[in-house]
Amino acid sequence: MKYKVVTYPPWYLSLWKKKFPFADFEKGVIMVWGKKIYINRPDLLTIPLIRHEEVHLRQQKNSYLFGLIWLIRYVFSVKFRFNQEIEAHRAEYLADKKNLYHVAKRLSSSLYGNIVSYKEAIDLIKFEEIKSKPKSKSKYEIYNIIKTTSGGFHSWLNTSIGKIRKPNSEVPNELFK
Ligand SMILES: [Zn+2]
Repeated sequence: MKYKVVTYPPWYLSLWKKKFPFADFEKGVIMVWGKKIYINRPDLLTIPLIRHEEVHLRQQKNSYLFGLIWLIRYVFSVKFRFNQEIEAHRAEYLADKKNLYHVAKRLSSSLYGNIVSYKEAIDLIKFEEIKSKPKSKSKYEIYNIIKTTSGGFHSWLNTSIGKIRKPNSEVPNELFK
């Protein structure tokens, strides 16, 4: 994907500030639109952050009306924004795995509405591949029972905000049949 890094703000900055008053472009908040990454402090731009913003550029591109629909949904829907950010944070983590804790901390922060705990954010960022098809359905959908890095077996639940790892003890027994 080709894009330019520019140091002036995007056209939608004043609208953005109405919803996110603390998003301070002067202090290095990064924004994207079309084929540009907007950052007042390019010295702060790292490879992992570039990977993060590339995901947003692609998400916009895959949306409608040149990304306008994406932008509106991102601004007004906490869940949509969170889902988009899972993907971006994952890319940021994959660019430098030492970033995991930093990235999980941000994803679970008030910046994105405190939607998941820090631990759940780590799960969402680390485990993307859910290979098997759902075995059964209920109010949750169980995707798989996998062995986690910590050595225990857990189940993945598909929720409105993405895939969340739950200990098996919290999963209704009938779903294992
Ligand atoms: Zn982002």
